[in-house]
Amino acid sequence: MNEKIKKAGVIGYPIAHSKSPLIHDYWIKQHGLNASYEAIDIPPPNLEERVHDLVDQGYRGFNVTIPHKQAIMMLCDDVDTLAEKVGAVNTVIVKEDGSLFGTNTDVFGFVENLRSAAQGFGYGWTIAGGPALVLGAGGAARAAVQGLINEGVPEIFVANRTFDKAKDLESMSPLVVKAVEWDKRDIVAGRVNFIVNTTSLGMTGQEPLEIDLSGCHEDAVVHDIVYAPLYTDLLKQARAHDLRIVTGIGMLLHQARPAFHAWFGVMPDVTETLEDLVL
Ligand code: NAP
Repeated sequence: MNEKIKKAGVIGYPIAHSKSPLIHDYWIKQHGLNASYEAIDIPPPNLEERVHDLVDQGYRGFNVTIPHKQAIMMLCDDVDTLAEKVGAVNTVIVKEDGSLFGTNTDVFGFVENLRSAAQGFGYGWTIAGGPALVLGAGGAARAAVQGLINEGVPEIFVANRTFDKAKDLESMSPLVVKAVEWDKRDIVAGRVNFIVNTTSLGMTGQEPLEIDLSGCHEDAVVHDIVYAPLYTDLLKQARAHDLRIVTGIGMLLHQARPAFHAWFGVMPDVTETLEDLVL
């Protein structure tokens, strides 16, 4: 019977913190699938050997997290343009011939979370309705910026502590993406339709994110992709200024959907029960 189990998992190092097994196990049970999803610890030197083991064991694919998101690209036989643009693969699909196809579902997760939140706002806010400010220029920022480019946001300002890294993101769409000095974030925040924190600032155990939202347009939406805590100081400040907010947990949940669909053939939904379970 065991060989009929559809197997998938998440690889990383360390992997114990990953919420992905909770999410996928919930959907596997919900849809009554004969499937499994494991958290697999793989130290960087063993990546290639262990990935080949997973293929030999009949895995349909796996998610990829820190520190393997770039290294896995070299092991994939094919990487889609989205993952190439973002510069990271977070989902691998093992094809029938054993070859590895790499993609990035963080862009989907980021945009779907925003769309779903916007439905509840009750006014005509859209992602593409004006300029955006992205705080940070790491891996998550690249996914967010790509999502905003895909949605047709007219101007995307990127502010990062290390300015050169913000500058690097301009090549993703030179006419749309503009690096701005980290010290200018308060001023830029007052000119945009959407602000997102993609730095690790504000996470439990990290320094707070310092920004002044008092000059924001009243229709501006503030999003934090940090989800521990769910209501970060940034989101609390936004609420205090009567701005609409979007928490980060939805991005984590939505990014898991296309991977689940690719491996198990069912497109699962994000529900409040799942959100409560993961939080
Ligand atoms: P990363 O590649 O390491 O990037 C970290 C970013 O934070 C960089 O822009 C870095 O600036 C900035 N930063 C760190 N410490 C700072 C400080 N003291 N002052 C100013 N900026 C600072 O990490 P990542 O993968 O992009 O992840 C970033 C955050 O997003 C994490 O908290 C992660 O948990 C969260 N995340 C959430 C989701 C979700 O599904 N909700 C998905 C992915 C990531 P420098 O370039 O100057 O170092």
